[in-house]
Amino acid sequence: MPTHARTGTTLRSLVLIPVAIGVAAGAAVFIWMFLVPHQRIGKVGDPGSSKALRVTRKGRLNQSPKTTTTTSTLVAPLLGKTIVLDPGHNGGNFQAPAYIDQPVWNGREAEACDTTGTETASGYTEAQFNFTVAAEVQRDLEALGATVILTRTTNSGVGPCITQRTAIGNQAHAAVALSIHADGGPISGRGFVILEPVADGPNDNVVAASDELALDLRGSFAAETGMPESTYDGLDGLAPRDDLAGVNLTTVPKVFIECGNMKNATDAALLIDPTWQQRAAAAIAQALEMFVLQASPLASTAESISRSSPVRTVERRLSSAMHRTTAAYRERISTGRSLPPPGSREQGMP
Ligand SMILES: [Zn+2]
Repeated sequence: MPTHARTGTTLRSLVLIPVAIGVAAGAAVFIWMFLVPHQRIGKVGDPGSSKALRVTRKGRLNQSPKTTTTTSTLVAPLLGKTIVLDPGHNGGNFQAPAYIDQPVWNGREAEACDTTGTETASGYTEAQFNFTVAAEVQRDLEALGATVILTRTTNSGVGPCITQRTAIGNQAHAAVALSIHADGGPISGRGFVILEPVADGPNDNVVAASDELALDLRGSFAAETGMPESTYDGLDGLAPRDDLAGVNLTTVPKVFIECGNMKNATDAALLIDPTWQQRAAAAIAQALEMFVLQASPLASTAESISRSSPVRTVERRLSSAMHRTTAAYRERISTGRSLPPPGSREQGMP
C-alpha cells in the first residue's frame, strides 16, 4: 500500500506540477500584455510611431487609457498616417537646365527629369506657389497628427526628378500622395483641374482609389476656394493622364492638382494672394483628411462604433465651425460658375 500511496503521490505530482506551471505562465503573459506599460503603440518602422509614443506617455500620465484614445482621436485623427506632398518643380530649376532636361522613364515613354514650371505675367513663379501651398497643407495635416513628407523642403534647390518624387511616396507607403501645381494655360482659360492616373501596370492597384481622391479633392477645392473647374482642360475638373511619371509610376493613391491658370489674370490674382493660398491649402488638407479617414478600415470601424459618442459630437462641431468660417470667406470671393463647355486639355508637362 505504501508503494501504492507513493505511486499515487507521484501521479498527482506529475499532473499538478505542469498545471501549476501552466497557470503561472498564463498569469505572466496576462501581466505582460495588460498590466506592464508598453513603450510603443505604433509598429516598428511606422513613421507615426514617435507621435504615437508621445500620446501613450501623455495617456499614462493621465492614468487612463480611455482618455488617451479619446484625446488622440479628437486632436490627431491622422495619427500614424503618412502623407506625401509633392510641390511641383523647384526654384533652382531655372539655373539647372542640364539637370532637369535629362530624360527619365515615366512608365510609358521618356520624359524630362523636371521642368521650370510656369509663372504669372508679374513673374510670380509656379515653383514658389506650389511650395507655399504645400507648406501650408503640411502644417494643417501635421496639426491633425499626420506624418507629412515633402518631396522638396526648400524652394531654392534643383529637382528632384519626377521619378524620384514618385518613389518617395511609394517608399513611404503613403496613405495618399498629392502633386501640387498651377498651370500655364491659354490666357482666356480659367480654373483648376485634377490630373488622374490611367492604369498602366505599376499603378493598377491605386487607380480606383486615386479616382476617389480626385472626387474628394474636386468637391473640397470647388467649395472652399471659389476657383471654377477648368474651362480648357479635362471634363468637369478631371483629366486622366497617361504621360506623367507622377501618376504612371505611383503605387499609392495619387493625383495632381493644377490649382488654377497662372496665365489668366483673374486666376493669377487669386493664385498670388496669400489669403487665397491658405484657403486652397485648407481645401486640399480637408480633402486629404477625408480620403485617408474613409480609406482606413480601422477608421471606418471606429466611426461606426462611436458615431454617436461625445467625440463625434465635438468633431462635428469643429467641422461645422470650420465650414462657417469657409462660408464667410466664400462670400468675399466673387465666383463665376457659368462657364463655357470644357475644351481640349493642355498638352505637355503640368
Ligand atoms: Zn507644374
